[in-house]
Amino acid sequence: MKKALFLFFSLAILVGCTPKTEQTSSSKPRKPKNIIYMIGDGMGLNQVYAAMTANGGTLNIERCTYTGLSKTYSANSYITDSAAGGTALATGSKTNNGMIGMNADSAAVKSILELAEEKGMATGLIATVRITHATPASFYAHQINRGMYEEIATEMLTSGVDFFIGGGRNNFENRKDSLNYSDSLRNANYNIVYSIDSVEAPVLLPFGALCADVDMPQAHERGDFLPQAVDLAIKSLDARGDGFFLMVEGSQIDYQGHGNNTEGVINETLDFDSAIKVALDFAERNGETLVVITADHETGGMTIMNGSYSDKTIEAQFNTGGHTSTMVPIYSFGPQADKFTGIMENTKIPLLIKEALEQ
Ligand code: MG
Ligand code: ZN
Repeated sequence: MKKALFLFFSLAILVGCTPKTEQTSSSKPRKPKNIIYMIGDGMGLNQVYAAMTANGGTLNIERCTYTGLSKTYSANSYITDSAAGGTALATGSKTNNGMIGMNADSAAVKSILELAEEKGMATGLIATVRITHATPASFYAHQINRGMYEEIATEMLTSGVDFFIGGGRNNFENRKDSLNYSDSLRNANYNIVYSIDSVEAPVLLPFGALCADVDMPQAHERGDFLPQAVDLAIKSLDARGDGFFLMVEGSQIDYQGHGNNTEGVINETLDFDSAIKVALDFAERNGETLVVITADHETGGMTIMNGSYSDKTIEAQFNTGGHTSTMVPIYSFGPQADKFTGIMENTKIPLLIKEALEQ
């Protein structure tokens, strides 16, 4: 062991003390083929650390090689909601709270998923709430108000999204206008299903799974739904061979933060971390995949008062039933992960991803 370590350090000195393998010797940074963008809704630093402590002191998210911080305020509020936060992370535009895929002047703005579509990449969205909910909607819809779920659902048909898994069946099939958008999607060649339990990877694209009428149940009731969805998405999108863009939301960390439920926050964050494991395992094997993990905002003003790695216990307090303005962490891994460091506006994150794709 000692010999191996000595050899490693000798080699490191020989190659100029740069054991990091991500930078190639050429001056041009390596372009990622695939992007996996993961958003923990309401996942501030203390949500991550609470889950880390409850897991005995470590998480998969620590495998990310770079970290940064994001300022989350929206165009009209010091404290963002998930619509303005999602729109910032999806499009690079600050907007007013409540607005989806539009800038503050109510003009539609292109999301990074739509850009990936234009580039011919395969695209996917996964959420544990309605696929029409603010965060995923910000990637394919353009609406003045996040509550317009049925209007948002209609935009799935024209979005070009190749793969989606989430809840929200009612917004497609049980609508005020009596139209059935699942059938419309089927007419446009989508395979629409209502469970992914027995779905074998890879599936043919386009594919959509509406696994709940509204939102999926909480983490402890939905089992390995989220990591399973991510695995199915990666295998299916990668199989097309054109590179892919996949957005994965750990949607319900936010709900548990609103409820000031420490155990719930921990369960949802651990569930999200198990999905992160699937993404990082693939990115490690694949070598051409940039993984960026962040949050739209913090929820609950969660503070960790005490805890124990060995007992896996946490004592936390909450300061609000709403969102807070605190900066949220960014974690990155893979080609050009080094760009996602320092303190930045939330709107810079999709711009950096876009730059990475356009190298
Ligand atoms: Mg959300
Ligand atoms: Zn919220």
